[in-house]
Amino acid sequence: YFITFEGGEGAGKTSILHSLGKKLQDQGFDVVITREPGGIDIAEKIRNIILNPEHTAMDGRTEALLYAAARRQHLVEKVQPALEEGKIILCDRFIDSSLAYQGYARGLGIDEVFSINQFAIQNSMPDLTLLFDIEPRKGLERIAANKDRERNRLDLETIAFHEKVYEAYQILVKRFPERIQVINADQVFDDVEKDSLSLITQYLNN
Ligand code: C5P
Ligand code: MG
Repeated sequence: YFITFEGGEGAGKTSILHSLGKKLQDQGFDVVITREPGGIDIAEKIRNIILNPEHTAMDGRTEALLYAAARRQHLVEKVQPALEEGKIILCDRFIDSSLAYQGYARGLGIDEVFSINQFAIQNSMPDLTLLFDIEPRKGLERIAANKDRERNRLDLETIAFHEKVYEAYQILVKRFPERIQVINADQVFDDVEKDSLSLITQYLNN
C-alpha cells in the first residue's frame, strides 16, 4: 500500500510518520519510510536545488517541473519496487503537495500542475492520504519554537501564502474524498498518532 502524509508546515507529518512507521513495524508490517522531494540520491539532489535559500530567482514553473522530476525518479526507483514486494510505503508528501503549493498557492493552476504530474507518475496515485489539518498560524508557531529544524527557501513565504496552501488542501479533500482522510493535527502528539494509526489499520484491514 502506498500511503502519503500531507499538510502545511508544522503540522507534525514527519514526526508522526516516523513514530507510526516503527509501530507498524513492531506489529510485523514490512514498512518503508520515505519523503518527498527526496527519498533517493537523485531526488535529494533535486530537493537541494529547489529548497536552497539562495535560489530566490526560482521560477514557479521551473519549481513545479523539478518537483515532478524528483517525484518520478523517487517513484520508479523506490516506491514502485517496494509496492511490488508487497510493502507498506509511508511517504512524507507527494502529488497533493504540488497541487497545493505550486498549483494553488503559487497560482499555476491545480489542473495544469496535475497534468505535468500525471506525465510524471502515470497512474501511480496513493492508495490513502492522511491530511494533517492545523491552522497555518499554529503550524508556523510550532516551527518557530523548534530550534533544531532546518530552514529553507519556503520559510521566506508570508502567512498569506500558507493560508492559501491550507485552502488548497481543503479543495483537494473535496476533489478526492475517498483517498484523502483528514486528521486533526491540532492535538497532542499521542492523539494525532492514535488517530493516524487507527485510520491506517482500518484501511489495511479492509
Ligand atoms: O515536508 P518538508 O517540510 O520537508 O518540505 C520541504 C519544503 O518544501 C517545505 O517548506 C514545503 O512547504 C516545500 N514544498 C513545496 N512544494 C512541494 C513540496 C514541498 O513548496 N510540492
Ligand atoms: Mg516535515
